[in-house]
Amino acid sequence: MQIRFILVAPRHPGNIGSTARAMKTMGLDDLWLVSPAQFPHPEATALASGADDLLGRARVVGTLAEALEGCRWVVGTSARLRTAFYWPVFTPREVAPRLLQAAVDGPVAVVFGTERTGLTNEEFERCNALIHIPANPAYESLNLSQAVQILAYELRVARDLPAPEARRLVPLAPAEELERLNTHLGQVLAAVEFTDRAGGGHLERRFARVFGRAELDQHEVNMFRGLLAAVMAKARRDPETPA
Ligand code: SAH
Repeated sequence: MQIRFILVAPRHPGNIGSTARAMKTMGLDDLWLVSPAQFPHPEATALASGADDLLGRARVVGTLAEALEGCRWVVGTSARLRTAFYWPVFTPREVAPRLLQAAVDGPVAVVFGTERTGLTNEEFERCNALIHIPANPAYESLNLSQAVQILAYELRVARDLPAPEARRLVPLAPAEELERLNTHLGQVLAAVEFTDRAGGGHLERRFARVFGRAELDQHEVNMFRGLLAAVMAKARRDPETPA
């Protein structure tokens, strides 16, 4: 069972070390770092304490997309509950059994944002759902590694709960398949000149959110890709469609 914890652009090496420790105490060991400011670093090693083996095995990549390769369910974390979120929002306690269940079919990911500003909208767009740790509304931003600890702990507790309902017949599509679907849709939207006033990829991003929320399985992604290919083929044959 693979549950990836991904830190996006962590600035303080100490937080990376504390994250490794928080994970190892709860029996998790799959740590990914996207463009860390400083790593490896003595402060990370010091704060990892006996969990420095996790640091040694941590995967360091340049983009979130690379870290999400193969992941079938992706949840992002947010310190702020913005008024209008486009994703379902869970507490750590609610999300833990779902993560364990989804992990039966392949890797799943929990994504943590950079210390000061958290995840960007573009990063949220790669998520199927969000986690918010309930906190003091006047001060709800936890230290990064403490947020990691809470998630890791709830996963530990959920491991001992009775197994949830039946498995999916078809596993969820991995993140890179969803990305291909979004790219394909963007090409078709351009080809048939389906745009909105806002422009600048606004419509594409809204479609991406819908697809993310829908938790598409592989067959469903194939179905949409087939539809898009058919629309594109038809558009190419239509003399009125611009080249
Ligand atoms: N102002 C930023 C705070 C970032 S804190 C924001 O609005 O998101 C750095 C990271 O710690 C966050 O990206 C998230 O991964 C985690 N975190 C901190 N507090 C959290 C909370 N209450 N719920 C969920 N994640 C939290």
